[in-house]
Amino acid sequence: MLIDTHAHLSDDRYKDNLEEIIAEFKTNNLEKVINVGYDLFSSKIGIELTQKYDSVYASIGVHPSNASEYTLEVETFFKSVANSKKVVAVGEIGLDYYRSTEEKYLQKAVFIKQLELANECNLPVIIHIRDAYADALTILQEHKHLLNNSGVLHCYGGSLEYAKEVLKLGLYFGFDGPITFKNSNTAEKVLKHLPIDRILTETDSPYLTPHPYRGKLNEPKYVALVAKKMAEVFGVSVSEIIEITNKNAKNLFKKLSE
Ligand SMILES: [Zn+2]
Ligand SMILES: [Zn+2]
Repeated sequence: MLIDTHAHLSDDRYKDNLEEIIAEFKTNNLEKVINVGYDLFSSKIGIELTQKYDSVYASIGVHPSNASEYTLEVETFFKSVANSKKVVAVGEIGLDYYRSTEEKYLQKAVFIKQLELANECNLPVIIHIRDAYADALTILQEHKHLLNNSGVLHCYGGSLEYAKEVLKLGLYFGFDGPITFKNSNTAEKVLKHLPIDRILTETDSPYLTPHPYRGKLNEPKYVALVAKKMAEVFGVSVSEIIEITNKNAKNLFKKLSE
């Protein structure tokens, strides 16, 4: 069964049918879904969902676009829940220079703060990088000592050369809808050269809906389309890619197998 390692079930667009979507996970061959927080509120909703639904796990964190919301109070809350059985990671954290109005220096400081938090709580990190690849790599390399529990560059959109540097840090790469897009070169040019034991399946729902549902609201069940494309790229069967990526997800997010 499939694992969606990155979804935002807390999104408003699911408020009328979330129950239904989660109830259908099994029929849609979905084993587990990680709800990824991007601020205090979405992180709290994620924790509530883990209590309500067996198949839902949570990641807690403040997205770079919300960097100014990372207060001492938020950090204290995160520390108080980090040891919960179903809180599997800190994220999404990182740098976003594309649409963010938050100052770069603040984004960098909050990114490092949360790398420290994850290390202290023995959790892996889920990293979001947009238009900030060089700065993000510098931070990761300078704080390698905080990456003892590893992490993933989610929705990977960087080059192969960049990926090679990231591999030296022992991190993973998450792929979602964009690898299925007709105009995407990522799949052929980068994905197929990555070690198969370092890739994860994700959707980033409700965003980035895979082909042929592009334009519709994304849902964790469409992670099947991401897995299918990965299988094509690596020349293995869909069931093999599911087995491999599940093992990868469980290696990174240790609490998924507890
Ligand atoms: Zn993201
Ligand atoms: Zn996301």
